[in-house]
Amino acid sequence: MAPHPPYAATGIAAATADLTKTYGSGDARVVALDRVSIAFREGEFTAVMGPSGCGKSTLLHCAAGLDPVSSGSVRIGTTELSTLDDRQLTRLRRDRVGFVFQAFNLLPTLTALENITLPLTIAGRRPDRAWLDRVVSMVGLSQRLGHRPGQLSGGQQQRVAVARALVARPAIIFADEPTGNLDSRAGAEVLGFLRDSVRELGQTVVMVTHDPVAAAYADRVVFLADGRLADEMARPTADRVLDRMKAFGTRSRTS
Ligand code: ADP
Ligand code: MG
Repeated sequence: MAPHPPYAATGIAAATADLTKTYGSGDARVVALDRVSIAFREGEFTAVMGPSGCGKSTLLHCAAGLDPVSSGSVRIGTTELSTLDDRQLTRLRRDRVGFVFQAFNLLPTLTALENITLPLTIAGRRPDRAWLDRVVSMVGLSQRLGHRPGQLSGGQQQRVAVARALVARPAIIFADEPTGNLDSRAGAEVLGFLRDSVRELGQTVVMVTHDPVAAAYADRVVFLADGRLADEMARPTADRVLDRMKAFGTRSRTS
C-alpha cells in the first residue's frame, strides 16, 4: 500500500471520508453527521451553512480532532487522526489546527500580544518574528498590543483570537460562528481579517455561519442538512446564498 493517499500531495489541508458521528444510544440516539465526505483545499476559505442542529459544529469539532468520530476518517494534511494516540493528537491539535469560537476565549489578565503568542508560549516555541509582525500588522492592533481584553471592543477581541489561531501557522483554522457575538461592523472587521489571512498568508479557513453576508467572504459555501452534505456553491455572493437558503426552506416545508 502506498504510504499516503493520492491526494496527500495535492494541496488538501484537511478532509473527512464517510464521517459519521452519533450521540447517545437507543431512543436517544442522534445521528449528527451521516457519512460526510469533504475536502478543504489549502489556501481556500470555506463557509459551512445550514439550519440549527444540522451538524455544523459537530463537523468542525470532528474535523479539528476535538471530538472522536463514530465511523469514517479524518485527515489533517496527510495525517490520519485515527492512527494517533492521545499525546500525538494533542500535539497535532496544538501545532496544526487553529480554532476560533463564538466566545473569544481570551485570557483576561494577559495583554493582546500575550494572548496572541500564548499557544507558542505553551508549546515552548519562540515566535517567528517576521510572521508575528505580519499577523499583528494585518490584525490592525499594533497600537493595542499592550491592552487587556477588557480594554478592547468585541471586534478587536475576536481579531486577537483569530491572530492567536494564526500565529502558530496551523494547516487549517476552524471558526464556529466567529461573528455570532459581534455587531455587523465588528463582524465585517473579523471577516475581512479572516479573508486577508487566506488571500495574503495562504491560510486555510473553514467557518460556520448562518449569515449570507458573512458567507460571501468565503471562496465556497457548503450546505449541510440533517447531518448530510446537501449542496455546494463556488464564489458565493450574499444574494445567491440567500436564494439557495430560501430554496432549501421551501423544499423542506413541502417535503
Ligand atoms: P449545529 O452546529 O449545526 O447547530 P450541532 O453540530 O451542534 O448542530 O448538533 C447536531 C446534532 O447533534 C443536533 O441534533 C444536536 O442536538 C446533537 N448534539 C450535538 N452535540 C451533542 C451532544 N454532546 N450530545 C447529544 N447530542 C448532541
Ligand atoms: Mg453550532
